[in-house]
Amino acid sequence: MAGELNNIIIGGSAIGLRCGSLLSDSTVFEEHSSIGDPVQCSGIVTSSIKDIVELPKKLIINKINRFNIRTDSSQVTIKTNSPNYILDRRLFDQRLHDNAIRKGCKIQKSHRYISNNLNKIKVLDLKNKKEKFFTYKNLIGADGPFSNVAKNNFHNTIQKVPAVQYRVRFKGLDRETVTVYPNKGYFAWIIPEDSEICRIGIISKRANSDFILFKKRFTSSKMKIIENQSGVIPLYNPRIHYQKENIFLVGDSCAMIKNTTGGGLYHGLKASNLVADTINERSEESDCRTCSCSSGNVKSYEAKVKSDITKDLILHYRIRNVLNCFKEKDWNIVVNMLKKESLKTILERYDRENPDFVFKMLLAEPRLLYFIKYIFHAFSH
Ligand SMILES: Cc1cc2nc3c(=O)[nH]c(=O)nc-3n(C[C@H](O)[C@H](O)[C@H](O)COP(=O)(O)OP(=O)(O)OC[C@H]3O[C@@H](n4cnc5c(N)ncnc54)[C@H](O)[C@@H]3O)c2cc1C
Repeated sequence: MAGELNNIIIGGSAIGLRCGSLLSDSTVFEEHSSIGDPVQCSGIVTSSIKDIVELPKKLIINKINRFNIRTDSSQVTIKTNSPNYILDRRLFDQRLHDNAIRKGCKIQKSHRYISNNLNKIKVLDLKNKKEKFFTYKNLIGADGPFSNVAKNNFHNTIQKVPAVQYRVRFKGLDRETVTVYPNKGYFAWIIPEDSEICRIGIISKRANSDFILFKKRFTSSKMKIIENQSGVIPLYNPRIHYQKENIFLVGDSCAMIKNTTGGGLYHGLKASNLVADTINERSEESDCRTCSCSSGNVKSYEAKVKSDITKDLILHYRIRNVLNCFKEKDWNIVVNMLKKESLKTILERYDRENPDFVFKMLLAEPRLLYFIKYIFHAFSH
């Protein structure tokens, strides 16, 4: 079977579906038979996400007003001026799916992308095991951290770290406070959905064994597991490419991740807008070639990502490189410093999508320059 399609998107999760709703004449191929499954996400986002997508109330399971940062011997609680939202990630993806359909996007579930060559893709229909071929004008890889679109078309080298997360029943939670353990693996977390259910997890190179230690040390053994939501986090690095002619990468397929937190929704969704803008501008430009008006030069998607997305991600990457050098005693120093009102105020006011607040903190607390030894290390990598 062969067919002609215009904009082909591989991956029907949040980022691919968002692209599908923004592009006319688009088709999403998703290998799973249902949208939103399996969930591999904590679903915590800052309120900045509302600048990109609507968040109807039914998608928000909980609102977070405080972060408790704990080491083995110290802790500090930081309030947030605007709430963080805990999303129902399954419903979030399903809503993006419904929006895409409403905009005319076609969704082919149970279809796995295999390869592409000369503007034609090969997909496998997983229901009847038949191969299908489709030509495309634009191909968008939104196929997550193990992206085959990236593997087949780009030379990106992306490090991935396991993230183990369980959704558990666990009594006695403060429903407005996320607890973060920055000294466990890359970090560990307890994110409440309400006062009885939470998402507990860790990002670490040895995530499974570290998770067991973390669970033993910090939580009661009485927790009841409801769902395993583990996955991997692809780590951003500045050498990644995002576009090769009419092939585009977006979201986890090209590690649009804040390396400090493992969060990828905000920048992935933001990049979906940039893919759609670029493709729409390119098609307007090619229409213009047939008429007498002269359209301006279309800025490439790669250039747009580099000016709008990676300027944030680079700083998160540098900060992560600094944090990776920290020893237990460094975390205690930081947590104790964060008790200072001037630093707390900065953290309360800024959200983590824009990491510039780090410079403000350095100005407010020169003792943070104690970590300059690590900063040199981070900036030389
Ligand atoms: C444990 C964990 C917790 C996280 N918590 C947060 C958080 O709190 N906040 C946040 O912002 N981010 C978080 N993230 C990151 C976030 O989940 C990702 O950044 C986000 O899901 C990326 O979306 P995506 O659409 O790019 O990729 P994915 O969600 O990985 O989707 C890729 C899609 O492509 C499909 N696919 C793959 N290969 C093929 C193929 N060959 N053919 C067809 N379909 C294919 C997959 O089935 C999947 O549906 C977390 C990640 C993990 C692992």
